[in-house]
Formats: sequence, C-alpha cells, structure tokens
Amino acid sequence: MSEMDRSKMVILGSTGSVGSQALDVAERDGIQVEGISGYSNISLLEEQIRKHRPKFCALKDDDSLKDMRIRCADLNVKFLAGDGAIGEMINESSSDIILNSITGKAGLIPTVEALKTKKRLALANKESLVIAGEVVTALAEKNNVEIIPVDSEHSAIFQCIGSEPKNTIKRIILTASGGRYYGKKKEELEAVTPAEALLHPTWNMGARITIDSATLMNKGFEVIEAAWLFGVPLDKIDVVVQRESIIHSMVEYIDNAIIAQLAVPDMRLCIQYAVTYPERNDGCIEPLDFTKLSSLSFGIPDTDTFPCLALAKDAFRRGGVSAAALNAADEIAVKAFLDGKISFNYIPEMIARTVNDSPKIDHASLDDYLATDEWAREYSNKLVGGNS
Ligand code: MG
Repeated sequence: MSEMDRSKMVILGSTGSVGSQALDVAERDGIQVEGISGYSNISLLEEQIRKHRPKFCALKDDDSLKDMRIRCADLNVKFLAGDGAIGEMINESSSDIILNSITGKAGLIPTVEALKTKKRLALANKESLVIAGEVVTALAEKNNVEIIPVDSEHSAIFQCIGSEPKNTIKRIILTASGGRYYGKKKEELEAVTPAEALLHPTWNMGARITIDSATLMNKGFEVIEAAWLFGVPLDKIDVVVQRESIIHSMVEYIDNAIIAQLAVPDMRLCIQYAVTYPERNDGCIEPLDFTKLSSLSFGIPDTDTFPCLALAKDAFRRGGVSAAALNAADEIAVKAFLDGKISFNYIPEMIARTVNDSPKIDHASLDDYLATDEWAREYSNKLVGGNS
C-alpha cells in the first residue's frame, strides 16, 4: 500500500461541534479540506466554504443545492445533493482521510460509504457502531480499513492500547464525567427542565449528546462503541466516573499495569490524532498544568438514578437489532424531553419499553438495522403521549 497522504481530508458534518473543531485543526495544521458536508445550517456552511475553500460540498436536497449555488456563485465548488451525495463526494475526492462527524443515525450510511472506499475513517459518529456495529466492523475488516476513533474516550483507549496484543488486555476503564446530575437521586430529577439539563460541566457539545450525557445514555453508547471497536466483551469494560474529565480512559493489562491517557478536555486533540496517527503533531490544545489541578476525583456510576447505562448494556447483550432500537428510542425521547413533552425520568422508561418490544433479528443486514430504526421511532413516538 502506498503511503497515506495526510495533507488533505474530507469532513462530514462540518457545521456540528466536532466538524467545526475539525476545520480549526485543519487550518492550524495546514491540512487542505477537500470536501465538506452539512445538512441544516446553510449560512454557517457558506461561511465555512468561503474560509476553507473545499472542492466539494455535499448537501441534503435540491432546495439547499439551489440555495448554495446562488450563495456561492462566485466560488468554484462542486455541489452535490441527495442520498448519494456524500458517497459520491468521498469517491471523487483524492483525500485518504474521511472524518465522519455527522450526528445521529444520518452518519451510518456515510460510514459504510467511507469504508467501501478503503480510506481512513476517523469516526466521531458513534451511532454507526451503536446501530450497526456488527456490519460496520465486518466491513472494516473485510476492506482492511482501520477505524480511528474520535470520541475522546475511545481515542484515549486507542492510544493506551497502542500495539499491545489484545490478549494482554484485562479490562478497559471507560471514564465518564458523571454528567450534570452526578450525585443526585431520582426524586430530585423529576422537575429538571431542558434549559438546565443542557448545561454540561466540562464538555461543550450539541444538545442531544449533552442530554445523553446527563442521563448516562452517552456512556452506554460508548460502552457499545468500545465493545465493537476494540473487540472486547462487555464484562471487560468498566465505567468509572472521573469528574474533571482529565483522564479520558484507561486500559488495565493482565499484569495489573494501568495505562491512562490524560489531557485537558478538548476534542481537537482527538481529531488531530485521528489524522496524524501513528504520528503526532505539535499540540493544538492547551497543555495540562498539574499544578493547577487541585484533584482528580473518581466515583461509580449510579445506575438506579440513571438507568440508561444499564439499558444500553442490556440492549447490546440482547444483540441483533436491539441497539438500533435503543438509539432511535433515545433520540425520540431526548427530543420529546427538550420539547417539554416528557419528564427527565421518563426518558429511560420510554427507551426500555421500545427495546423490550423490538424485534429479535440475528445476523441483521444494514436494511434490518434501518427498518428497526424506523420501527423504533414510530413506536417510541406513540409512547410520548403516554407520559402523564
Ligand atoms: Mg465521549
């Protein structure tokens, strides 16, 4: 195989939180952004195009295509739109690195498209693995593509593992900030408002992931993500609360040595490493100053108050398409909570009921996952009305 070209990349979901930070990293490190995609924030997308001058831009539909062609009439950009647009852009681009930072289910097909081209996939879209981990990892293996994780915990684990043989891993210690409501009891969460829940102690992220972080569903997704990425069974993945989000995860080996990765909480490190791996570049984040760090505190997640972490593990154990139902139900529940339609504590209940009633399909195909996703959205939407 020829040497990988790290001088350019494609960023999918460039208007999101990780996507915008990826553009910062690219600018700082002199990486040419050859293509971008964005579905919702057209004016930000235009701003990004003017600043970063990509060759390609993939859009949602013909309406956004018309709009962008007018907005960017003075620029030389190839706009693509519709279902196949991202796949077409990835195929046409000469970049060896595709960063998928699309949020939610919409990131799954682009992950599959990227893996088909055998380019490096820097993966920030955790739903690809949560929904269809079996299909995604099988495709990566078949095409001999290494998925480089961008999720901070998984980037940390990836770095801690390095070239250690898998059979020496005793357990993965996935750290969690604990979320906004760490230490609270269920009764205290009954009256939580969306505005309150959207404030996260350490990470600045999109709305859904901030709520997922408060319910611990995000950590549940990350356990599933880690199981697929590193091929480790669930009983070898422990979640530990690390309140300051300084230790981004750890790996314990059979000799009881623990290797941890520490840094200030800043996604740009994970993005940069996914591009430079196996090399490293000069830091684009602030160095960690131990003298200003008063303490590192740890705790155990409270799954009574936050049942979502256990729900995610159960769904993974149930196997088949269950985690696809889990993800879809969570998306609907979080939206209903943000819209003021259900309470914070009803989120896990809605998800549990959807997963329990979801179909059991072994060795599911991509179509099975997508059909389950549709089914679960419809099913859990009906449950929204049942919250009284
Ligand atoms: Mg994370």
